[in-house]
Amino acid sequence: MGEFELIRRYFQRSAHTASAHTALGVGDDCALLHAPASGTQWAISTDMLIAGRHFFPDVCPQKLGHKALAVNLSDLAACGAQPVACTLALALPQADAAWCEAFARGLFALADAHGCELIGGDTTRGPVPTISITVMGHVAAGAALLRSGARVGDAIWVSGTLGDAALALRVLQGTVDGIPDMPAQVLDAARARLECPTPRVVLGQALRGIASSAIDVSDGLLGDLGHILAASGGLGARIELVRTRALLQARQSLHLPTALIDHCTLAGGDDYELCFTAAAADAPRIAALGAATGVPLTCIGQVCAQPGVVLVDENGACVNASAFASFDHFADTKNASTSVKNAQ
Ligand code: ADP
Ligand code: MG
Repeated sequence: MGEFELIRRYFQRSAHTASAHTALGVGDDCALLHAPASGTQWAISTDMLIAGRHFFPDVCPQKLGHKALAVNLSDLAACGAQPVACTLALALPQADAAWCEAFARGLFALADAHGCELIGGDTTRGPVPTISITVMGHVAAGAALLRSGARVGDAIWVSGTLGDAALALRVLQGTVDGIPDMPAQVLDAARARLECPTPRVVLGQALRGIASSAIDVSDGLLGDLGHILAASGGLGARIELVRTRALLQARQSLHLPTALIDHCTLAGGDDYELCFTAAAADAPRIAALGAATGVPLTCIGQVCAQPGVVLVDENGACVNASAFASFDHFADTKNASTSVKNAQ
């Protein structure tokens, strides 16, 4: 199977399709998109996943297709944008028909669920499977949620659950001590969070006009919250550990060391939940929004004027936050080849 046969078979669903947003899809030198309605802006984001760094090389390709798009849709969600279209750049060591079929199935299932049309891409041979997706979405002009709008006194909220993806990764890598044998059911649930994240697209759009700032949690809660605080003029935060610890799903059925719970929930990464801030008085509106969208929303703390993050435990004692730095691909430049986010 050659390059063009691979594209035609797995990624071009119908030749030169036209749709609500697209005049021309896969198959020509460029895709053609209709201009958005006036008063609408494009929201555009790219994420790259590399085998051995972001995913295990032998991961189920259908789940990988889902995740590759999910992490991009999560960025649109964090901005409150409506997905419209995406492109897919794919490098593979060989054209494996079964792998491509399953990958495309996972990707298209999620794309269709969000009305996000695959309009083009590039396919090439490469040393390890590498996937780069660019998503495009619409958002009313000036209404996008940004990292920069948090204010002193705002409540800090997180959607869904935190830390289970990081827990699953540690168990799969065998880098976790002190966990009793994890029952298969608990590991499967945590693994689903790692391999099949749910982008909070509907929630993100519903938060427009309510949230003062937002970010998606991809590199660990404290690191990503740190981006909000820095972008909002160098603010700080006070975080209640009873709230964050309760967000680890596996904790419901397993006794885990507190230090491990804190590491997974505060610095874990791969959660793809939304962390956002909103005026304290909006708490009832946000609770109603959680009920309406079916996504649990938890207030975990408050924005403060004093820079830095203060972690407070159930006794009111402060816990050192510096141990929970988020993942940085280039953090250790002297030893970059051993800096691994995910799967090696
Ligand atoms: P060009 O050489 O002009 O860049 P290509 O031969 O790379 O074009 O691609 C042919 C068509 O297939 C283009 O419309 C391109 O956008 C599309 N395409 C290539 N790879 C993919 C892919 N992995 N997924 C979706 N569309 C793709
Ligand atoms: Mg090309």
